[in-house]
Parts: sequence; C-alpha cells; structure tokens
Amino acid sequence: MSGAAPSLLWLRHDLRLADNPALHAASDGPVLPVYVLDDAAAGRWAPGGAHRWWLHHSLAALSAALEKAGAPLLVLRGEATALIPRLAARIGAATVHAGRLHAPWARQRDAAVAKALAAEGRGLELHNSALLVEPDRIRTGQGNPYSVFTPFARAVMALGDPPPPIPAPARLRGVAHPVQGEALDALGLLPRAPDWAAAFPEYWTPGEHSATARLRAFIEDIAGGYEHARNIPGQDGTSRLSPHLHWGEISPRQAWHMAAGIGDATARQAFRRQLIWRDFAHHALWHRPDLPERPLRAAYADFPYQPDAALLRAWQRGRTGYPIVDAGMRQLWRHGWMHNRVRMITGSLLVKHLLQPWWDGAAWFWDTLVDGDLANNSMNWQWIAGCGVDAAPYFRIYNPVLQGEKFDPDGHYVRAFVPELAKLPRKWLHRPWQAPEAVLREAGVALGRTYPRPVVDHETGRARALAALKSLKEAE
Ligand code: FAD
Repeated sequence: MSGAAPSLLWLRHDLRLADNPALHAASDGPVLPVYVLDDAAAGRWAPGGAHRWWLHHSLAALSAALEKAGAPLLVLRGEATALIPRLAARIGAATVHAGRLHAPWARQRDAAVAKALAAEGRGLELHNSALLVEPDRIRTGQGNPYSVFTPFARAVMALGDPPPPIPAPARLRGVAHPVQGEALDALGLLPRAPDWAAAFPEYWTPGEHSATARLRAFIEDIAGGYEHARNIPGQDGTSRLSPHLHWGEISPRQAWHMAAGIGDATARQAFRRQLIWRDFAHHALWHRPDLPERPLRAAYADFPYQPDAALLRAWQRGRTGYPIVDAGMRQLWRHGWMHNRVRMITGSLLVKHLLQPWWDGAAWFWDTLVDGDLANNSMNWQWIAGCGVDAAPYFRIYNPVLQGEKFDPDGHYVRAFVPELAKLPRKWLHRPWQAPEAVLREAGVALGRTYPRPVVDHETGRARALAALKSLKEAE
C-alpha cells in the first residue's frame, strides 16, 4: 500500500468523508483532495446565491474534517479542464477520482478532463456517490429510459437494498500542496450588502456532521409520523436533508440504510420512495439533458404563457394575496428552503393562475433555494407545468384556499411567515378578502394596504388556465 502512486481526489457534490467511494478509492495511497469553483463551465447553472452560502460553509466543514484526517483540502478557482490535469501532473497522480455528476454541462466538462488526462497517460475514474442507482443501470422492458415514476420505483426496489455505506477512513495520507490555494473567504461565496442570508444559520448548519445528526434526529424523533406529517408545512415533519443530499454531505445510501430504523413500515417506505424520486429526477436529466431548458412534451413549447414582470415580482416577494402561497415564498426567502407541499402550491399558482412560464419560477427557485438542484428543480417544475415526465395533468389546478385550509388547518405556517395576518381567526386566515370588515379591523388587517388582495381571483385564473390548455390542444 505504502508504495501506491498519489491520487487526486476531485470533490464536487460529495463533500463528505463517510460513504464516499471516490475518497475510498483514492485513499489507497497518498491523496490530494481538491475543490474547484468553476463558474465558467457551469454557465447559467453556476450555483445560485443561496447555494453559494451553503457551499461556503460546507467547504469550511469539509476542510476542517480533511485536515484532521491528514489530507488538507486545496481550494482553487478557475477552469477545471485546465486545472485538474495540471494538478494531476504536478503530483504525479495516475488517477483522478471523483463522484459522477449528471448535469449536461458537468458531463461535457468531465469528458474534456478525461481526454486531457488520457493524453498524458492518466485516468479520470468516476464513482457513484450521489444516487441509489446510476441512471444507466435500469431500463424499461423495451430498453428505454423510464418516463413514469411507479415502474421506475419498482425497478429500483427490485434491485434490493443499495450497497451498505463505506465508513469514513480513519486516517488519510496527504500530499504537500504543490500550488497556492484560495482562502475560502476569497471565493466571495457569502452575500455582503445586503446579507439576505442572515436568518439561514437559525435554520441550517451545513456540513457532514450536521447532516448525519439531522438524519439521526429525523429517524429517531420525526419519521414515525412521516406519512401524514410530510404534507403539513407548519410541522417539522420531513427530513430537511435536501441541501445536505444536494451537496453530498450525506449519501442517499446512508439515508436508505438508516431508514431501516423507522419502525413504521409505511413511513419507512414513504421516505425511501422520496429518495427514489430524487434518483428518478437524475435519471430524467441524464437521459434528457434538455430537461432544464425545454418541455419534455414537445406540444408545450407553444403554451400561451403571458410573461408579466409585475406578477412574477408579486409571487417572488410573497405578495400574491393568497396566504399559503405568500407564506411559502417568504419561507423560501427567509430560510432558503420551502416545504414540498407548498412548492407545489406556489408553483401551480405561478404557471396556472398567473400563466407565468415555469422556467421563470424554476430560475427564482434556483437562485433562492439552498437545495437548488438541476435535476430535482427542473423535473418538479415540469411536473407542475404538466409538460414533463410523469407530469401532473395540467387541468389539475390547485385551489390555494382549499390547499391552505387542508394542509395548514390551524394556520401555524401562515402565521409564522405572514405576520400581518397573525391575528386573523382560523376561519378567515386562508381567505382574508372574504372576512367581514369588523373581523379584519379587529385583526389589524387593512386589505390592499397591510396585506394585498388576491392578484387574481381563483375561478378567473382557473378558467383562463384551462382556456390556455384548450388552445394548445386545438393547435396540436
Ligand atoms: P423529505 O420529504 O424528507 O424527502 C427526503 C429526500 O427525498 C429529499 O431531501 C429529497 O432529496 C428527495 N425528494 C423528496 N421529494 C422529492 C421530489 N419531489 N423530487 C425529487 N426529490 C425529492 N428538491 C431539491 O432537492 N432541489 C430542488 O431544487 C427542488 N426543487 C423543487 C421544485 C418544485 C416546484 C417542487 C414541487 C419540488 C422541488 N424539490 C426540489 C423537491 C422537494 O420539494 C424537496 O426535495 C423537499 O421539499 C426537500 O425537503 P426534505 O429534505 O425535508 O424532504
């Protein structure tokens, strides 16, 4: 072992030590772990503002853990296609190990890096760090990629449990840094003026340690009620692992195996099913690299959206006049995250009632979510807009009032994020414009002044959305 050639470990979306197959493979001999901030390669899919906040703190945690293990992290900024082969040559690495990425731009970059390395007799070895099952491993009976979730989930489950997680190495043998790295602060990942991420730390602690602690707390204290609680945004009823999974601070295999500790079989199954949705989104992106840009159902390319900057702004700022929607959009702004049920309600209002293009909603989420993920975000927006894989039929239009009353019956969620409505009685909380004047006065609500009237009436918005759909069908 001691004579093994050094390896370069190129960390990307696997910012952890445990269950990291690339790290495991590289740790046979001396290893240099490196992270490269390469915005140019990512282009418009460079990490959005909220994810950059997360990345800063995650790199800080990873750097401390690697230092302690004996192989400090080198942080660089620039074009990985040039930097990685150069660094591999400097340390005499035979192999560069990395976790496989699924975004089209990253695949192109990996191909270019592999080519440059091969020209010098070196290799790029990609490992499955991010998924339960790699997208090419399963196909339908006809040999096609899956486009419907249920058979996909069945195929994943038929493979049995994923391999057990690999423990973190006790000790790593580092390689002296051959080049000067960047100080983390110099990457400028944190917002300055204004610091819109000020409330994030109340809610999040990036890094592997906290990801594992959150998973454990979820399994032990929360997951038993997951089947029901996962739809109630006012409760801490879901794992909140999405940003940790996105940055690979924890692997889906670890989550899957830890889920064995959920006593209630229905809850265990429901949680694992969500992990499979994540794989499904990556499967979709891998086989349809145009997923972030184009509707998968071609007819929807001509959908008669009516882009309107003022409506988009009202939605982004949580000023639509629909309390559940506004609470969601404000949760997103305040915490960089939004509950899944509310992502569906807010998304539906935008693309259906307001006829705004789904990609404008996706772009806002991309910039503001700490878990903004090209596969998950694109697939789910297309799902909402009715134009993607296994999409919700377009004619199924959420009623934001009934959704609010059903999933936030006591109003905890709305009261937490829309404080100007906090004193309204439950009966009117999700429909303040129908409340008697005296009730509004008593609660300190002046519609149109302290809180907006609905930007569109539900029935009008619904009828308009259905007419738009009809026009599309007629044009087909
Ligand atoms: P849990 O309920 O605890 O689920 C566990 C894990 O399963 C999640 O962390 C996530 O990795 C995965 N998961 C759950 N639901 C889905 C789903 N519908 N699709 C794919 N994976 C899922 N998720 C992202 O990670 N990044 C995104 O950018 C993103 N954008 C979305 C946009 C819209 C319009 C919608 C409707 C959903 C989006 N989701 C996205 C999916 C989902 O809302 C979040 O994964 C979930 O809310 C995260 O909370 P959690 O970790 O507590 O989830």
